[in-house]
Amino acid sequence: MAIKRILIANRGEIALRIHRAAREMGIETVAVHSTADADAMHVRLADHAVCIGPPAAKDSYLNVAAIISAAEITGADAIHPGYGFLSENARFAEIVEAHGLIWIGPKPEHIRTMGDKVEAKRTAGALGLPLVPGSDGAVSEIEDAKLIAEDVGYPVIIKAASGGGGRGMKVCTGPDELETLMQQAGSEAKAAFGDATVYIEKYLGNPRHIEFQVFGDGNGNAIHLGERDCSLQRRHQKVLEEAPSPVIGAEERERMGGIVSKAMADMGYRGAGTIEFLWENGEFYFIEMNTRLQVEHPVTEAITGVDLVREQIRIADGLPLSVRQEELEFRGHAIECRINAEDPFTFAPSPGLVENFHAAGGLHVRVDSGLYAGYRIPPYYDSMIAKLIVYGRTREGAILRLKRALEEMAITGPKTNIPLHQALLDVDDFKTGNYTIKWLEEWLAKR
Ligand code: ADP
Repeated sequence: MAIKRILIANRGEIALRIHRAAREMGIETVAVHSTADADAMHVRLADHAVCIGPPAAKDSYLNVAAIISAAEITGADAIHPGYGFLSENARFAEIVEAHGLIWIGPKPEHIRTMGDKVEAKRTAGALGLPLVPGSDGAVSEIEDAKLIAEDVGYPVIIKAASGGGGRGMKVCTGPDELETLMQQAGSEAKAAFGDATVYIEKYLGNPRHIEFQVFGDGNGNAIHLGERDCSLQRRHQKVLEEAPSPVIGAEERERMGGIVSKAMADMGYRGAGTIEFLWENGEFYFIEMNTRLQVEHPVTEAITGVDLVREQIRIADGLPLSVRQEELEFRGHAIECRINAEDPFTFAPSPGLVENFHAAGGLHVRVDSGLYAGYRIPPYYDSMIAKLIVYGRTREGAILRLKRALEEMAITGPKTNIPLHQALLDVDDFKTGNYTIKWLEEWLAKR
C-alpha cells in the first residue's frame, strides 16, 4: 500500500467513518477542523490534527489553500473528502493531484461531467441509462419548450442545469404558464448558481427514489452493490433509507445493476459512485449521479459485507476491486435513520450542549456518530448528529430491531428527531413498504 497517511477533509460522523477504515488498514489519519470543532471526536481520534480556520465552512472546510497546506505540513499523502463540502469539486480534485497527493475519489473530469445536469443526462443517455423523457440538452426558446412539453406531455418540470439540493426546479401544468415559469426558473437559477441554463423533462407524479451503488477501478472494470431506497424525504432531504428496496426483486436488481455497472465500466469510472433514479410503475428514470460516498452507504455495507471506504482507499492506491460481481451476495435487509438535532415535528434546529449520550447497541446495530456527553453541537453545520443502522434477516426483523434500538438510544440536551422515526415505524404504509417520495410530507401534513 502506497498510502501511509490520509488527510480527512471533513468533520462529524463521516470523518470518523473514514478514520476507522484507515486505522484498520494501518494508515495514519490527519483531521482538519474549524475553531468551532476543536473538541470534536474526529479531532480527538485522529493521529494528527490541524486547525484550518474559523467556524464558517467557506473559511475552513471549504478553504482549499488551508487544506492543502495542512496536508503538506503533516506529510499526508492522500486526501479523502467525505461527502458534501469539497467532495464534488472537480477543481479541488485537480489541485490535490497537482500537489502530488492522491485524491481518494473519481477522476476530476467525471466529477465535472456529472456535476452539470445537462452534461450528466447526455452522458447517461449515451451510456445506455434510461432517462426521464424531455429536452435533449438546454432549452432557451419558448417555442422549443412548447414543442418538447407537448411531446412528452404535461405536467413537465423545468430544471436548472447547475441546480442542486432540490433547488431551481419548477413544475408546469400547462402551456399557458410555460413561458412565465421558464423565465422564473432561469432568473432564479442565475441568482442561485450564476447560470441561467434550464432544461425540461416530464414530471413524474408519484415516483420512488431508488439509487444504485457502483464502484469502478478506473481501468474499465466496474461492479454494482445493489440499490438503496431513499424515498422517505422531506424537502428533498433523505430521512430514512433502506436496502434492498421493498419493490425491487433479485431479477430486476441484476438487470438494472448490469446496466449501471456496464455504463461505469464503459466510462472508465474510478471509485465510488451513486446513480440516482426515479422509479414509477416498474420503470427506472436516471436523474443524477453523485461522484462520492453517500451518507446512506452503511445500508449497502450491511447487506453486502463490503467496507465501502476501504474499497475507495484501495482503488485510489491503484489496487483492483476487492470483490467480483459474481462473488457479491445481497443478504437480509438494512435500514438507516438519520438522527438530527432538531425538533421532531417542526424541524427547527436544536444545537447546543449534549448532556448525556447513550448509543444503542447489540447484535446487528451500528451507530455512526461523533457525539459524546459534554459535547456542544455547533450551530454552523448540518444538523445530522448520528446515523443508526440496523440489519435483520428480513425487513420485518430489521424494523423490530430498529424499534428496539431507537428505544435504547438516549440523547439529552438538544431535541432530536428520534420521536419522528419512532412514529414512522408504526405507520402501516411504512410497514408494508408502500411509500413514494411524496409520502412523508403528506403524512406530516395530516398529523
Ligand atoms: P438536486 O440535484 O437538486 O437534488 P435532482 O435532479 O436530484 O436535483 O432532483 C431532486 C428531487 O426533485 C428528486 O429527488 C425528486 O423528488 C424531484 N424531481 C426531480 N426530477 C423530477 C421529475 N422529472 N419528476 C418528478 N420529480 C422530480
